[in-house]
Amino acid sequence: MSTAVVTGGAGFLGSHLCDYLLAHGHRVICVDNLETGSLENIEHNRDEKAFTFMYQDVVEPIWIDESVDYVFHLAALASPVDYMRLPLHSLKVGSYGTHNALGLAKWKRARFLISSTSEVYGDPQVHPQPETYWGNVNPIGPRGVYDEAKRYAEALTMAYHGQQGVNTAIARIFNTYGPRMRKNDGRASSNFLQQAIDGKPLTVYGDGSQTRSMCYVDDLIRGLYALATSDEHLPVNLGNPDHEVTMLELAETVIRVTGSQSEIIFEALPVDDPQQRRPDITRARQILGWEPEVDLEEGLRRWLKALGHEPVPV
Ligand code: UDP
Repeated sequence: MSTAVVTGGAGFLGSHLCDYLLAHGHRVICVDNLETGSLENIEHNRDEKAFTFMYQDVVEPIWIDESVDYVFHLAALASPVDYMRLPLHSLKVGSYGTHNALGLAKWKRARFLISSTSEVYGDPQVHPQPETYWGNVNPIGPRGVYDEAKRYAEALTMAYHGQQGVNTAIARIFNTYGPRMRKNDGRASSNFLQQAIDGKPLTVYGDGSQTRSMCYVDDLIRGLYALATSDEHLPVNLGNPDHEVTMLELAETVIRVTGSQSEIIFEALPVDDPQQRRPDITRARQILGWEPEVDLEEGLRRWLKALGHEPVPV
């Protein structure tokens, strides 16, 4: 049985990855400081012999007294609301945290995968975004603390690979949604769904013409695992190019699927909010044979059901 360490393992993506790894016969060590993750997300694995939880901040060195085959470094304050609330911690997680996770992988001779982000492309002037695009990031803007931390983390990862021979992988994750996103996560999909359920107005920022490409969590996790079990070292985009929607369309879709009576209201657009985002997933298709499968409405329906609500029949 091989052992995988998942940093951020009690978070949204991390906890789904832990489940996926357990289902595929791996032992899992979940490392999380519960800043944005929660025990609820991993509660169902509590009695699972192959699962261990370590309460720890990745900013501190990670000591594990057994052999490790994979290190999935997912710990991050990934929502704009969180990284703007904790800007210094966000920079530390991307720098010290990634250093510690890479150090662990090097020591254990493990395959290392970092969850990078479409934010490395900033407010992109190339559309859709291929991995070869260098991005358009404002380093001193409010999003810089996250974007630059991830860009630094990518540089660190490639340096460990090139200079130290660590077996590394970089996943550039685009907008992902689904069960276990926190109610107060602050992102568009979770805000809209919760607002629709509560019968409150859906808060679209700006005129709602900015786009994001929405990938269902199960598709994304499958892609992460395919990348980790490949021998690719260069960054690979993971996201759903078929569901690029404006934020107004996303709000309308959520209202349709939930059957909510909520209205849509418009609020101020945050500073440096990217205007468009869609992954070019040619590399993921070619290298991993990976393709997202879940349609946006279907994904929203599954999420709504997981929250105990019945979606509007198709
Ligand atoms: N957004 C919105 N209403 C909300 C939350 C977010 O219109 O209640 C917008 C936000 O301004 C951005 C887009 O939705 O243009 C996606 O934001 P999110 O925080 O989900 O993720 P991002 O892709 O910006 O990291």
